[in-house]
Amino acid sequence: METKRLANPRARSHPSLILCISLSLQEISNAYEVLSDDQKRSIYDRFGEAGLKGGAGGFGGGGMGGAGQGDFTNPFDIFEQFFGGGMGGGGGMGGGMGGQPRRRGPAPGTDERHDLTIDFADAVFGCSKEVEVSRLESCGTCSGSGVKAGTSPSRCGQCGGSGQVVQAVRTPLGAFQQVMACPACEGAGETSAPCASCAGDGRLRKSKRISLRVPPGVDGGSRLRVRGEGSAGRRGGPPGDLYVFVRVRPSPAGLRREGTTVHSDVDVSYVDAILGTSVQVETVDGPVDLRVPAGTQPGTTLVMAKRGVPRLGAAPAARGDHQVHVRVTIPTKVSEEEKGLVEALREAQAAAATAKGGKGWFGR
Ligand SMILES: [Zn+2]
Ligand SMILES: [Zn+2]
Repeated sequence: METKRLANPRARSHPSLILCISLSLQEISNAYEVLSDDQKRSIYDRFGEAGLKGGAGGFGGGGMGGAGQGDFTNPFDIFEQFFGGGMGGGGGMGGGMGGQPRRRGPAPGTDERHDLTIDFADAVFGCSKEVEVSRLESCGTCSGSGVKAGTSPSRCGQCGGSGQVVQAVRTPLGAFQQVMACPACEGAGETSAPCASCAGDGRLRKSKRISLRVPPGVDGGSRLRVRGEGSAGRRGGPPGDLYVFVRVRPSPAGLRREGTTVHSDVDVSYVDAILGTSVQVETVDGPVDLRVPAGTQPGTTLVMAKRGVPRLGAAPAARGDHQVHVRVTIPTKVSEEEKGLVEALREAQAAAATAKGGKGWFGR
């Protein structure tokens, strides 16, 4: 193991993480396949997996007005800043209020969050994890329509089919009349007998096991996004995304992590620090022999190159270093024999100093 010294052991900074995830098992690959094709996706949104298996042709459709999100063909999904990306909002009725008559259009599904705690080593080298996610899925009974089977919509009794109602609003400036979307039909102008299974929502909360491949190099605070694995949309709206928040357990071997750099401490006796030695150091790759050079000073940092954490999203060979911080131990008690030897050492040092014409006998 090659060792070298660092002038300043803590000088390295680490770049902010860019997070990514890729999908492994067949189930998820399917989801990507669906997402990569707008037309298929709209069918998937409305009818779920069964809709595709039952022959996509029949649903034709197209033009569902789903969000035309970028490129789904890349299985590696580059991360966005989570709160910039807009979780939370989601759902909604997806139409302009403000008194305009509106029809109920597709509404995107909300994003879902899942917290995942993984071991230190799994974060370093990546891992596959099964997670159980709770989310809204398209109702199988009504195929996501929310309408009771065998019934057809009828004109809304509250708004008479206009989809709007007028409401008096009192404000400090006086009373106003405000046109609002009809609360009974949500502005659609017609009502339907609700599906008994989903109470008309078209979706049911279910849990689903999802297989994730956590990429090498993730860290605590990493967020992985799995597109399309959030809650189903309504009325053909696109599904939300699943965000997996990663937490990392402490290393049982006492390793500390700073970006791609791993730190650990090693105790070396003062004798070994003077004479040099070889010590076994625990690394993410397992125990490794580290040469401690003769004359190693307390607080020295020895670097084991490429024994750190893989850089997220980079080639597997791109790894950080492992920095070993040397603590020189000085015994508080020594045997008579050791004491004699150290005293002899002191005399030898003094003699050496005299020989160099230095400080002389008493100048120690
Ligand atoms: Zn239903
Ligand atoms: Zn109405």
